[in-house]
Amino acid sequence: MSTIDGLPPLREVIASHGLSARKSLGQNFLLDLNLTAKIARAAGDLTGADVLEIGPGPGGLTRGLLAEGARRVLAVEKDSRCLPALEAIAAACPGRLEVLNADALAIDPLDHLTPPIKIVANLPYNVGTELLIRWLTPKTWPPVWDSLTLMFQREVADRIVARPGSKAYGRLALLAQWRCDARIVMHLPPSAFTPPPKVSSAVVHITALPAPRFPADPVILERVVAKAFNQRRKMLRAALKGLAPDIEDRLIAAGIAPTDRAETVDLERFCALARGFES
Ligand code: SAM
Repeated sequence: MSTIDGLPPLREVIASHGLSARKSLGQNFLLDLNLTAKIARAAGDLTGADVLEIGPGPGGLTRGLLAEGARRVLAVEKDSRCLPALEAIAAACPGRLEVLNADALAIDPLDHLTPPIKIVANLPYNVGTELLIRWLTPKTWPPVWDSLTLMFQREVADRIVARPGSKAYGRLALLAQWRCDARIVMHLPPSAFTPPPKVSSAVVHITALPAPRFPADPVILERVVAKAFNQRRKMLRAALKGLAPDIEDRLIAAGIAPTDRAETVDLERFCALARGFES
């Protein structure tokens, strides 16, 4: 019986299965198994956890997750050309790797996994932000997952961890930081990938808090924040004019000057403003 360590190098796997990278699928592969092991370790202790991996490709990170002791891994890959390489990994770890040939946007991981669940992925750039927003906005909180360890373009990673007053600060930062701790744990240059993308990347580690930092209705908060940042250069009394005729009074009640711009307002005051709209 083969073991993970006995599997062929990833360059060989790519060559033997004809896995030429497709831009339309955001395919930039990680072939250095030391690096994929490091990313798997950034997810914390995997023993006793089920892991959802989106876009395993030839399986470099998948191997890392299994080698780090994940109880089970569900690997969801849209490109059927990757399946034989992934099945070889599954054969080396009986009962621990389930490969699903599907679009990650169309599956419910709970049909396959049991909590505690960690999500770990080198995400395809084209659907990365959409998946993150879904994971950050489940119907109920805490979510089904304990942590997200995700590779993004550097610019997206910066937007997730941004603080008020910075150019990167906006909807994504507020959404992530309202109910989670989020930090960048690794930076990677384009040369870490095959083929190299045009931009640098970063791994963000996000852990779910048991409850939001400040109370607010998620739907109202999301609406207020989206509107505030839709016209981020405008003063808030103008950007939020459509929300209520007495918006200036509501801003003042939340501790916000009507002449402030969205990018200077912190999470606590956005939550206070959203609470003002709850009946
Ligand atoms: N995890 C591999 C690695 O690190 O080498 C591959 C990462 S590559 C950036 C993104 C992977 O996501 C590709 O294998 C691609 O085929 C897959 N993918 C793209 N869109 C997808 C989708 N909607 N659902 C599932 N997988 C997708």
